[in-house]
Amino acid sequence: MTDVCIPLDLEKTASVSNNGTATLSSNTVAPGSLPKPILSLSHEDAEAAISRFQEFIRFPTVSALSPETGAYRECAAFLKSQLDGLGVMDQVFYLDEAPDHSPVVVAVWKGSQPELDVILLNSHYDVVPADVSAWTVPPFDGLRKDSKIYGRGTQDMKCVCMQYIEALRQIILNGYSPVRSIYLTFVPDEEIGGSGMAAFLESTVYKSLPGIALALDEGLASTTNTMDVFYGERLPWWISVTAQGPTGHASRFIENTAVEQLLELTKKALAFRQGQKDQLGMSLHENCTHALIKKKKLGDVTSLNITTLQAGVPVGNTFAYNCVSPQAKCSLDIRISPHMEPRDMSNLLDVWCQECSSTPGSVSWSYLEEQNASMTHATTDTDRRVNPWYGLFCDTLSTMGIELVPQVFPAATDSRFLRALGIRALGFSPMRNTEIMLHEHDEYILESNFLEGIGVYYELIQVLGAQGDEMDRMVEKKRINTDSSN
Ligand SMILES: [Zn+2]
Repeated sequence: MTDVCIPLDLEKTASVSNNGTATLSSNTVAPGSLPKPILSLSHEDAEAAISRFQEFIRFPTVSALSPETGAYRECAAFLKSQLDGLGVMDQVFYLDEAPDHSPVVVAVWKGSQPELDVILLNSHYDVVPADVSAWTVPPFDGLRKDSKIYGRGTQDMKCVCMQYIEALRQIILNGYSPVRSIYLTFVPDEEIGGSGMAAFLESTVYKSLPGIALALDEGLASTTNTMDVFYGERLPWWISVTAQGPTGHASRFIENTAVEQLLELTKKALAFRQGQKDQLGMSLHENCTHALIKKKKLGDVTSLNITTLQAGVPVGNTFAYNCVSPQAKCSLDIRISPHMEPRDMSNLLDVWCQECSSTPGSVSWSYLEEQNASMTHATTDTDRRVNPWYGLFCDTLSTMGIELVPQVFPAATDSRFLRALGIRALGFSPMRNTEIMLHEHDEYILESNFLEGIGVYYELIQVLGAQGDEMDRMVEKKRINTDSSN
């Protein structure tokens, strides 16, 4: 079985019409019909797009260095000139709330119904450093060789910055104009904490939006013929466990010591860990309306590691080796998968502590003080019945014959800030049949991937921007139905 999640158009059509609502997309492939060809640029247009991309790669926008070197400012000016050059954007500007040395570039293409929730196309233009001595090609030359474009950021994620712009360039040639407004944000500092996105979310521009219907942000390349779409990230929890027990001279058989109790608990924690680990790569039927078979990946399971262990009766710089420690502690790093309720994890910790306590409450757990552990997952719903925008996204790719694999991102992206505000955000970088090269030496993108991505956004942006208020009514109706059924 292949590791894919294929949107079944038949099923989708049925579930939509049962609710008596409008069709999701006017261009869904009818079962059995051929997919719509992905736009392929003329030779001249492709060469021009690649050469603009090469120019963009040449700005060495390394996160921590660029405010000083001016690379951010120069790169932002390049982006602004590209967006201005499109000739149809209603506004292209630097966000007031971002510092001059780290501009956030915003472009607005106003829809015919500007009161509707907007489509946000986000990307970050900063990159991680490149160790020149470890690269076999220059990281900031935009070198073209063997049908590849080399350079830091070619996959993460300068490709997407330019694919948005190049797709718009083609869309405009069609005489297209959007129904709902399209906002583009190009942010710095994603690689070092996300202050660019934070500035946007605190801005008057963001606060004056009617709402965001759907945000697109970065994903990862896929090594297979499918593309990956990321709907969430795992929830990190740092936990401290403390056991209390009797003390005394270590020559005696002291029962139920703190260390014994703590070791009991670590056994349970490690058994849980093994159970999660065993699910990696296993084929399981998922409770997913359009999944055939899904293999579990790292983001799908909850990881747990014991990261510290402490016990002993301290004496100066050492410990009293003949004293039984009255206290033992450990810390756990837990990453809760969106498939597990955080409440279930905390219940499990409660049960472990209870079962390992020799006297009531002698083993207890708490969140590490400095960590604000969240009790809720911030994910984007991938149930098309609840989130028609996700359905529309899948269907649009399906019309181009592209199969999507929904996944949990293994690391952090700017999408987490959007999702925390309840904004539907999908991580998506349209690259397939290629190596994952982000943060690697000799990072590159295949020319064919870069060009295909333009074609993918060409279709996606037009479909997303064309959705009228019936889409919002459908979302609202689903929300009310879901709320009342809970
Ligand atoms: Zn990135």
